[in-house]
Amino acid sequence: MPVKGRFAPSPSGRMHLGNLFSFLLAWLSARRQGGSIVLRIEDLDPVRCQPAFAWQLMEDLEWLGLTWDEGGESAFSWQSARSPLYAAAFEKLTAQGLTYPCFCSRIQRLNEAPHIHEISPSCPCALLPPETAEEKSREKTPSHRVRVPHKVISFTDKLQGKCTQDLWTGCGDFPIKRADGAWAYQLAVVVDDAAMGVTEVVRGRDLLSSTPRQLWLYEALGLNAPEFYHVPLLLAPDGRRLAKRAADLDMGILRQRYTPEALVGILAFLAGQQPSPESISAAGLAKIFDWDKVPREDIPVSSFLLS
Ligand code: GLU
Repeated sequence: MPVKGRFAPSPSGRMHLGNLFSFLLAWLSARRQGGSIVLRIEDLDPVRCQPAFAWQLMEDLEWLGLTWDEGGESAFSWQSARSPLYAAAFEKLTAQGLTYPCFCSRIQRLNEAPHIHEISPSCPCALLPPETAEEKSREKTPSHRVRVPHKVISFTDKLQGKCTQDLWTGCGDFPIKRADGAWAYQLAVVVDDAAMGVTEVVRGRDLLSSTPRQLWLYEALGLNAPEFYHVPLLLAPDGRRLAKRAADLDMGILRQRYTPEALVGILAFLAGQQPSPESISAAGLAKIFDWDKVPREDIPVSSFLLS
């Protein structure tokens, strides 16, 4: 089967070095295997996401030589335009009795940081009789959660190795639709990767704990799951991970300081592909890219790069 990778950025700010690192690895992996790349804009959250960031992101990827074969400009590759697909998946889960309305307000906050673990295994709203839930819905629009079974999910991440999570204790019933109508990342990512025929997902290690939930959704929706590579995060010298919020080494700064080849050279060095940060083009690197050399642990970026 031909390999199809993807870029799935959330346009909530300018890309930083850490975002670039995982996009580069996704691109190299697909290209090394003669595969294609789809670019999907994950703009589910209307408050945090702005189209201008998405256009800038595409321009930044092109500047670096990270080309894509599908998606990007076409409206249907923006999650904000794909609601009917998420609604159909939601209906499919509901028909199996797997969703329920949730009236807790905490959910909004959790959804704003979709990668945070759920703390409690389930929500008290799971036990509400349907009539009570309906009555409450008249006063307050609920969000919706999906009911997870007592089930242990095991899978082999192609970089991190064997991973196991008990859905019940490890994540609990999780949100799939917000009270304001926005679809949750966990549902949308599964629906989209399956609909777009993605065969390999390369993304940051911070999303590793989301993968069992997503694998279970694939199963519940009768969809084929891709393979996963969860790549290390880049860390600032003080140990925190690089973040858009902190405007860490964003593309604006990086483009002033480096040529595309110099920047790819630095990333290739951090990814263990070459012994020093020598300049190299993305296309040149694709010819020699080797997953076996990519570190598994998070990578400290030395201060000379950040200064
Ligand atoms: N849109 C997510 C982000 O930018 C990535 C989701 C994924 O790769 O599954 O953090």
